[in-house]
Amino acid sequence: MVTSDCVFCRIVAGEIPATVVHETATTLAFRDIHPQAPVHVLVIPKAHHADVAALAVADPGLAGEVLATAAAVAAAEGVAASGFRLVFNTGADGGQDVFHAHGHVLGGVRIGPMVAR
Ligand code: 5GP
Ligand code: ZN
Repeated sequence: MVTSDCVFCRIVAGEIPATVVHETATTLAFRDIHPQAPVHVLVIPKAHHADVAALAVADPGLAGEVLATAAAVAAAEGVAASGFRLVFNTGADGGQDVFHAHGHVLGGVRIGPMVAR
């Protein structure tokens, strides 16, 4: 049974496979299907919120748990000391494609300029 049109809700529901690297009661972290760096993990709240701004307004505690999970992922992936980038693309100008709040943990290489020109 399809529970949602949202691809990340369907990953949470186990309807779409994903390579999960970390899970808490409220958050899930899994490898991006099209990695842009040696470490590229998506960190999401299990509950559906359209983007990080909506998440922060609706449930700031959960937003903090997403950040804590991102930090745990960076440590587990071995990039906490070398550094990493945590990106929340938001809306059309932000380049957001999936409208379920998610942070990208990117590392394992020098990520480069913050904004492409
Ligand atoms: P956005 O552009 O919304 O910030 O990032 C969405 C990300 O989700 C993209 O990097 C894309 O590769 C990833 N993605 C989209 N669909 C799937 C999927 O079904 N599984 C996984 N693991 N990643 C996905
Ligand atoms: Zn969703």
